[in-house]
Amino acid sequence: MTLDVRDLAYAYPDGTQALFGVTLSIAKGERVALLGPNGAGKTTLVMHLNGILTAGHGEVSVAGLPVRKDTLKEIRRRVGLVFQDPDDQLFMPTVREDVAFGPANMGLRGADLEHAVVTALEKVGMADVIDRPPHHLSFGQRRRVAVATVLAMDPEILVLDEPSSNLDPASRRELAEILRGLDVTVLMVTHDLPYALELCDRSVILSGGVIAADGPTHEILADG
Ligand code: ADP
Ligand code: ADP
Repeated sequence: MTLDVRDLAYAYPDGTQALFGVTLSIAKGERVALLGPNGAGKTTLVMHLNGILTAGHGEVSVAGLPVRKDTLKEIRRRVGLVFQDPDDQLFMPTVREDVAFGPANMGLRGADLEHAVVTALEKVGMADVIDRPPHHLSFGQRRRVAVATVLAMDPEILVLDEPSSNLDPASRRELAEILRGLDVTVLMVTHDLPYALELCDRSVILSGGVIAADGPTHEILADG
């Protein structure tokens, strides 16, 4: 399994119990939507996938490697997190430097680094803006560059928080096309049900810190 979450429970320091024994496995190549109302625990679950939070109880592993303090560096390469706001992810003077940041941190240099950067930008159709400052790009373009920053690390799983939010219809369609074409396992947190239906064969509904449903998206949404 690419992602294995077993019996994960978590309470915040103030005592709020956000997750109650969540078990979820995602196989290589699956595209899964994580749905559920505000406060359901989606963000808390996602923060456990790359060790921003570590399990109070239970276990998370990525391609067989458990998320622990001593594995965090490798886990963060394996789990590519795309934040809801691309401006939380882009902070360098040029697109090239932003996309190079992760793979350079992994030790890539020279032609290997350039290849990783260009390949990632090509996957999101943004190779032509490689020398531009990110803040000169449109919001939709910045979101695509944010996706490239994590693709450049060749992750096992791409995790996106509300990928269609704030996009105009054309950018929304373009991003859907890009995500559908990627050869990577995807977990996307979304409130955009048409997007889930269009992109994800499988949907998981989290509600009150437990998995309320898990199955084919068309069945899950028909029941909802
Ligand atoms: P979602 O992403 O589905 O909206 P969250 O994971 O953000 O849900 O929240 C799950 C529960 O945990 C909610 O009850 C929320 O209020 C609570 N929560 C989230 N972050 C914190 C925090 N830092 N401290 C205390 N409680 C929190
Ligand atoms: P999302 O839009 O992803 O569901 P939220 O609006 O639930 O995010 O949460 C936004 C931020 O507020 C998060 O960092 C979350 O941890 C924090 N947060 C949410 N609920 C609480 C809470 N009850 N106490 C403290 N922080 C919270």
